[in-house]
Amino acid sequence: MVAHDLGGQAHLLRGGAGTDCRTGAKAPVGRFAPSPTGRMHAGNVFAALMAWLIAKRDGGSIVLRIEDLDEQRSKSAFASAIMRDFEYLGFDWDRGPYYQSDRKNAYEEAYRDLESRGLLYPCFCTRADLHAASAPHRGEKAVYPGTCRSLTADERIARAKTRDPAMRLTVPAEVYGLNDAIQGTYRQNLADECGDFLVRRSDGAFAYQLAVVLDDADQGVTTVVRGCDLLCSTPQQLYLQDLFGFEHPAYAHIPLIAGEPNRRLSKRDRDADMEALRARFKTPEALIGHLAGITGIADTCDAIALDELLQRFSLEALRGTIQIQWR
Ligand code: GLU
Repeated sequence: MVAHDLGGQAHLLRGGAGTDCRTGAKAPVGRFAPSPTGRMHAGNVFAALMAWLIAKRDGGSIVLRIEDLDEQRSKSAFASAIMRDFEYLGFDWDRGPYYQSDRKNAYEEAYRDLESRGLLYPCFCTRADLHAASAPHRGEKAVYPGTCRSLTADERIARAKTRDPAMRLTVPAEVYGLNDAIQGTYRQNLADECGDFLVRRSDGAFAYQLAVVLDDADQGVTTVVRGCDLLCSTPQQLYLQDLFGFEHPAYAHIPLIAGEPNRRLSKRDRDADMEALRARFKTPEALIGHLAGITGIADTCDAIALDELLQRFSLEALRGTIQIQWR
């Protein structure tokens, strides 16, 4: 068994564009990566706030990427509203917006590369098949049991007559892990705890895991700050980065904001969306101060200017925390 990449990311803020002439350390490149499927809610605002603070603290920059891979759910009106909300909050970005919908050629090229290396295979399983094959416990992800991995060429041809396949990446029985700046050490044996995963859906759309790895590398992102619901995806992304020869970014997986106990906020929670937040708090300083106080990155919930919070915020209260109650 091989362990990959533990230790290499003990420090959150390394690498990226721009060099500090005194120390030789490079400034981090962070990113905002919103999905334009609705108005932002308090959890999305907290994710953007943390990405901004962590990058800017060390003189870094921010890339804005609109994650509109899901063509059915993504709307340009939501992308515009998110950008206006970022501006309202003072979350400025240095490059972008880049749109995933403009990057299909890059995804296609990388996909062909994996295919030519014999790492992909067609999967004909339906959602129902997958459900029957494994019953994940709450909070665990379903492990693909490898049903279609060893179909013969003839079986593949026969199946393809009735169903367009999705494409899966074969994973090794190896441990991929990281030292997350908030959640600490996290490891996964890819074969046992993840299984071969999708890089392309049966409708031809490229999967999030593939797109995000290519985007982060091509856009020079060195510091990924995002919700801890994505922590269990990170070993897959580390594996893809190794396959393509990319450097691993540093990661900080922040707690989710929960609407009710054990239920994270979603874009359906209107009372915590930006429209309601702007009406309730009146100023960006009041909203940011409230979020900083309830999450514990500041000592109080008092209104605070972003630049002042940048001087004072602390990650200590977040360590090991996966959920914070909205109020
Ligand atoms: N687009 C995702 C979201 O809005 C974030 C993906 C990521 O940060 O890797 O939740």
